[in-house]
Amino acid sequence: MSAPTGDIGLIGLAVMGQNLILNAADHGFTVVAYNRTVDKVDKFLANEAKGKSIIGAHSIEELVANLKRPRRIIILVKAGSPVDAFIEQLLPHLEKGDIIIDGGNSHFPDSNRRYADLKEQGILFVGSGVSGGEEGARYGPSLMPGGHVDAWPHIKDIFQSIAAKTDGEPCCDWVGEAGSGHYVKMVHNGIEYGDMQLICEAYDILKRIGKFSNKEIGDVFAKWNKGVLDSFLIEITRDILYFNDPTDGKPLLEKILDSAGQKGTGKWTAINALDLGMPVTLIGEAVFSRCLSALKSERVRASTILDGPTVSDKSPITDREQFVDDLEQALYASKIISYAQGFMLINEAAKEYGWKLNNPAIALMWRGGCIIRSVFLGEITSAYKENPDLENLLFHPFFHNAITKAQSGWRATIGKAVQYGVPVPAFTTALSFYDGYRSAQLPANLLQAQRDYFGAHTFKVLPGEENELLKKDEWIHINWTGRG
Ligand code: NAP
Repeated sequence: MSAPTGDIGLIGLAVMGQNLILNAADHGFTVVAYNRTVDKVDKFLANEAKGKSIIGAHSIEELVANLKRPRRIIILVKAGSPVDAFIEQLLPHLEKGDIIIDGGNSHFPDSNRRYADLKEQGILFVGSGVSGGEEGARYGPSLMPGGHVDAWPHIKDIFQSIAAKTDGEPCCDWVGEAGSGHYVKMVHNGIEYGDMQLICEAYDILKRIGKFSNKEIGDVFAKWNKGVLDSFLIEITRDILYFNDPTDGKPLLEKILDSAGQKGTGKWTAINALDLGMPVTLIGEAVFSRCLSALKSERVRASTILDGPTVSDKSPITDREQFVDDLEQALYASKIISYAQGFMLINEAAKEYGWKLNNPAIALMWRGGCIIRSVFLGEITSAYKENPDLENLLFHPFFHNAITKAQSGWRATIGKAVQYGVPVPAFTTALSFYDGYRSAQLPANLLQAQRDYFGAHTFKVLPGEENELLKKDEWIHINWTGRG
């Protein structure tokens, strides 16, 4: 048999897999394609893959036999047990040093487990976040690979060639050990939840308080997309707001049922933040907001029972320009908080799981190709390039100044929303986090006292307040009632 010519194999010919194969073939790589339902291999070869450097495989054996060594195989199938099933099927045909890459939306503990199991068998496992949807996979996704570092030199060229480029730099770099690639992708998705919720709140304020038409709101987003908020999500929101139902010419958006779905990656981020004790409040609120939206029939009933302020048909806003500028600042400041929280979580995870993560590279990977891509991420990349060990994004002069300038508009916007009864959970939690984070003193002294009162949970004394009863560095319990 002649020497194998396949540069990389890919299992899973659904939309993501097919597009990633076509992308790799366009960049000069020979890809070997396989799918559980083998018919799809032939259909793909006869249609989209025709004339391209793509080899079809009708079995795992054939897939492996067509690959150069070390074999590089991407699995891009439904996350969960199908990934384990394919790993099991591949193992008898692989040699030490071969590379298995899981490009699906796997949960990072699964990637940690697969990394450890395969390491024992001499197989290099990589869990790679892939973002950007179908379009990204086809023309340049954001790729976040992590796992066995020895795999990186063998996959770097392919990964960086097919990834999106921003200012000539690929939106793909090595993330770190074990499941860290999928971890970073999970936080990316959580941040995506937060960005989307903030945009929804801005739309709601313009609609309910400002009484703007959809076209007018679209114009606001179009303007914002030329400034500090310039991003994919602002751009698509503009397009959505301009879109009219072709059957009657009315805004299509207003006909969509206001009950949000979710696949779980935002929830994973929020759960992990709770596990690690990190106040990633904005993503948490974004997940809960989707949950609240899903209680549609209950909300409809509650709207006829529960009282609160509402805005009449006429907007109370007199200075529309100031109103929109304040809202832009509220959105910008809240977004800064969300990314600061996201990086706090990533840094804590690195400590907790023993990963050495590359913060500037993470920001760069999100800069293009993915759903949260934005000009703003360019500023985060610069901040971390300048100081990879930056304690908190808010301490960097650029973000410190930005949030200082944004504050009056941020507070004014939230004030109006509260006054007129428009829910803004993400805006408010961002501001509460900011005010809490900049408070040297929080009311947790009272909380500690309460815990000690009812549960003898003990407390420590503030420096300078020590005495005979309140001893320095000791856990103290007080008999608060004087009863024995
Ligand atoms: P998908 O609908 O998630 O999965 C379909 C693929 O999985 C098919 O190849 C299917 O094979 C295979 N599969 C399903 N159940 C299987 C099982 N029990 N055993 C073996 N194979 C099984 O496809 P996708 O949307 O292209 O996504 C692929 C991966 O990328 C997923 O993990 C997804 O979460 C992730 N992802 C998707 C997007 C996106 O925008 N769609 C973006 C980023 C990441 P058959 O053809 O034989 O059924």
